[in-house]
Amino acid sequence: MSRRAVSVAVAVALDRAFDYVVPDAWPQVPVAGTRVLVPFGPRVLVGVVRPTKVAAPTADAKALRELLHVLDDDGPALPRDVVDLCEWMADYYVAPIGEVYRLALPGLSTHADARIAAITDAGRRALEVAGPLLTREVVALTKAEAQVLATLRDAGATGLPVTKLVRADKGKRVASPLAVLARLESAGLVSATWNDPEGDTRTETWVRRTDLMREGANEDELQRVIGRSKQRRVLLDELESRRDDGDGWVALGELRGPLPRARDLLPPLLAAKLVELEERPRSLDPFAAGVPEPSSPQAPTRDQATALQELRAAIEARVYRCALLQGITGSGKTEVYLQLIADVRARGQGAIVLVPEIALTPQLADRFRARFGDEVAVLHSGLTPRQRLDAWQQIRRGLRPIVIGARSAVFAPVPRIGAIVVDEEHDGSFKQEDGVRYHARDIALVRARSLSAVAVLGSATPSLESWAHARSGRYTWLRLRERPTPRPLPTVEIIPLSVHRADPETLLTGRLRQAIAETAAQGEQVILFLNRRGFTTTLVCGGCGTFQHCPDCSAPSMTYHLGRHRLLCHLCGHIEATPDRCANCGATELVHAGVGTERVELALQRDLAGIRVLRLDRDASRGKALLDTLAKFRRHEADVLVGTQMLSKGHDFPGVTLVGILQGDQGLALPDPRAAERTFQLLTQVSGRAGRGDRPGRVMVQAWAVDHPAIRFAQQHDHDAFAEHELEQRERLGNPPCGHLALCRVQGLEPAAVEARARAIGRFLGDAAAAVRSKHGGESIAELLGPVPSPIERIDRRTRWQMLLRTRQRAPLRWMLAELRPKLGAQDSGARQTTATVDVDPQSML
Ligand code: ADP
Ligand code: ZN
Repeated sequence: MSRRAVSVAVAVALDRAFDYVVPDAWPQVPVAGTRVLVPFGPRVLVGVVRPTKVAAPTADAKALRELLHVLDDDGPALPRDVVDLCEWMADYYVAPIGEVYRLALPGLSTHADARIAAITDAGRRALEVAGPLLTREVVALTKAEAQVLATLRDAGATGLPVTKLVRADKGKRVASPLAVLARLESAGLVSATWNDPEGDTRTETWVRRTDLMREGANEDELQRVIGRSKQRRVLLDELESRRDDGDGWVALGELRGPLPRARDLLPPLLAAKLVELEERPRSLDPFAAGVPEPSSPQAPTRDQATALQELRAAIEARVYRCALLQGITGSGKTEVYLQLIADVRARGQGAIVLVPEIALTPQLADRFRARFGDEVAVLHSGLTPRQRLDAWQQIRRGLRPIVIGARSAVFAPVPRIGAIVVDEEHDGSFKQEDGVRYHARDIALVRARSLSAVAVLGSATPSLESWAHARSGRYTWLRLRERPTPRPLPTVEIIPLSVHRADPETLLTGRLRQAIAETAAQGEQVILFLNRRGFTTTLVCGGCGTFQHCPDCSAPSMTYHLGRHRLLCHLCGHIEATPDRCANCGATELVHAGVGTERVELALQRDLAGIRVLRLDRDASRGKALLDTLAKFRRHEADVLVGTQMLSKGHDFPGVTLVGILQGDQGLALPDPRAAERTFQLLTQVSGRAGRGDRPGRVMVQAWAVDHPAIRFAQQHDHDAFAEHELEQRERLGNPPCGHLALCRVQGLEPAAVEARARAIGRFLGDAAAAVRSKHGGESIAELLGPVPSPIERIDRRTRWQMLLRTRQRAPLRWMLAELRPKLGAQDSGARQTTATVDVDPQSML
C-alpha cells in the first residue's frame, strides 16, 4: 500500500512547506485546515494541513516523518475558505506559507507548548495501586494510561507541556497520547491547563520602576543590567516616566502596544530589582461589559434606501459584489452597514466589519452591540491571548456571527459569511507593514469573492484605487450625498503661511489664534491638528548648526520629549538623556527647532490664559489613558484638544466647531506616490470633526503650498475633482491604480554587502523586466526603478537599499516575483548577513 502524505504549513520563517506521512493506523487523512503536531528537527511544532492538491507525491514517502497527532477534534481549526485565502496570499505576497497560516490563527492555538498537563492527587493514588489494576475510584488503567501517568508523576507539580508526551523519539512510545490524556483528564487523574503567557485571566500583572539606581544612576552599571536590548531601555524609560506622574504602576498589557514583548524583557530588570511586579484584578473587557441601550433601525433616507436595495439584491442572488459606499462623515454609512447586516443575519449568515483602529472608536462597536447584542464579537488589541482564543472559538462555533475588528479580523472563522464591510477603507492601517505585508481591504475582497458574498467599502475619501474601480463600473458605486440631519459642510479657510507668519512657539497665525479665543469664549470646542509628536522636532547646536542625530539611524533628527527630558528616535526607539553639549563642536547652546504637539500644548497654555488644553498622541495617551482623554474632551472638560493624526479617525465630538490644521502641507514633501492623496484624505477627515453637533463648523488650514490641488480640492470638499486630477498624474507615471508596484528591500549591518546584494538582485530584475518588454513589445509594460539607497538609509544600524518594480498589468509582475522568490530571504551570516524582502502593493516607500 502506498502511504498517504500531506503538506503541512509549519510556523517557521522558511519559505516552504513540509511533507509528512499520515500514520497507517489513522482511518482518514486530516482535512485541510486541521492543526496537527509534527516532529520538526528535535522539536514538536503545531502545523496546519494544506489542501491535498499541494500534497507531495507519495512515492518517496519512505523518507518522510509521520504526523504525530491531530489537535482539532471538532472539525478543522480553519474553515476551507480561510485555507484557500492563505494559499492565495502566500503566492500573491510572495510570503512564507507558515507565516501566512499563523496570521489566520490566534497565537495560543499555534503554540505547541501552550497546554500543560499535570498529575492530580487522584492520579497519584491510581498509580500507587500500581499497574493495570482496578483502583478504588474504579478506574482501569490501560498500559498506555499508566505510562503517561508515570511520566507526569515524574514531572512533578509543575507538569509537562502536552507536546512532551507525544515525542516520538523518546524511547518507549505511546500510541495516541493525546487521546490517552483526554481519557485521564475526564477521569480526574490529570489536569490540563492553558499556559497563558498573561497568566490568570481574572488578574493581570502590573509593573513599576523601583527606587534603585534612579537619580544619578551609574550609567555603566545600568547599561550592564539592560544589556544590548534597545527595547529594554525603552521599557525602563517608560516606567521611569510613569513614576513622575502618578504612583508609577502600569498594567503590563497596556505596554503591549509599543512593546509587544514587554514581558520577555523583564527578567534581568527583575533580577536586578530595578522593577517590581504585582498581580491585580483585571478590569473587565470594556467591549464586552454592559450591553449598550438597544437601538432599532432608522427609516432609511433615499440614498440609503437605494444603496441597501442594490446590496440586498446581491445577497439574495448569492453573488459576489463589491460596492464602494461613498459619503461624508455623518451621511449614514454606519446605518447602512447595520441594516445590511440585519438582512444577512435574517438569512442565517454572518458578517465581518473591519475598522482601522478599534481602540479609538469604541462608539462604533457600541452601535453594533446596541443593534445585535451578544451576536457581536469585538476583537481589539486589549484582549489577552487567552481572551482572543476564547473569542475565536466562539466565532468558529457560530456563537458570534458578527465580528468587528481591525486588520487581522479579516481572517475570523465566521461560518457562512454573507457580507464583509471595510469601514474607512482608505485608511493606511489596513496594510500590515511587517512580516506578511498584506492589505486587509484587498484580502476582504478576495475572501468575499470566494464566498459569493457582498463586500462594502465605506469612506468619505475613498482610496484612488477603489474610486477608480467604482468609476469604471468594476465596483458598484453607492453614494450618500446628503446627511440624514442636514447640516452645512464646514467652511474651510486656507491661511497662507507666506503671508501670515506663525508664532514659532505655538505655530499659530494671528487669525487662528483669534479664532480659538473666540470659539472658547462662546463655550465651544477646538481641535488642533499637528502631525508631529514630541516637544520640538529636533535639537540644533547654536554654535555649529549640527542636528543631534540618532546614532543608529539616518533620519534627520532626534525628537526632544519634555515630559521625559529625553531625546527619542521615532524610527528605532533609541533613547538618550538630553545632552548638555553638542556632540560635534562641544558648544553648550542647544536650541529647539521645529515644534511638536507637546510644545504646542504648553505654549498654548501660556499664551491663551484661561483656556484648558488636552493632548492626544501616542506619547500622552495609550490604552485606558487614551479613552479617558477622549471622554474628558467629550464631556467638555477642556476647550482645546491638540493632537496628531489619531484625531482624524471617526471620533464624534458634538461640541467642536473649530478645527485648526497647523501645517496642512506637511505630508506633501514625502517621496511617496500617494503623498497628495494622503494629504487630501487627512485634511478632509480632520475637517470632518468640525460641526458635528447642531452648530456649523469651520476649518482653518495653515499651509505654505496653498495652491496645491490636495489643499485646494479639500477646501472645496470636492473629492471627485481631486481624484480626477490625481488619476491623471498616476496615469502619466503608471502608478497605482493605473499600474502595479512591488518594492524589493535589502537590509543588513554591512553597507557594502547590502549594496552588493541589492545590485545583484537589481541586475536579475532588470533582465526579467527586459524579457517581459521584449515579449510584449511595449515600452512601459515593465520597468525597474533602482536599486538605490532607501529614503531613510539607515534604521537601527541597518543599511537599507530598495528597488521598485512597476508594470502595467498584474500578470508580468506576478511572473517576475515568482522568478525572484528563490532569491529572497537571508544570505550570508554574522555581520555580513543581508535580508531581501518584497512588499507587494507597497503603501510606504520610506
Ligand atoms: P457615517 O457612518 O457616514 O458617519 P452614521 O451612520 O454614523 O454616518 O450617521 C450619522 C448620524 O445620523 C448618526 O447619529 C445616525 O444615527 C444618524 N442617522 C443615520 N441614518 C439615519 C436615518 N436614516 N434617519 C435618521 N438618522 C440617521
Ligand atoms: Zn534611531
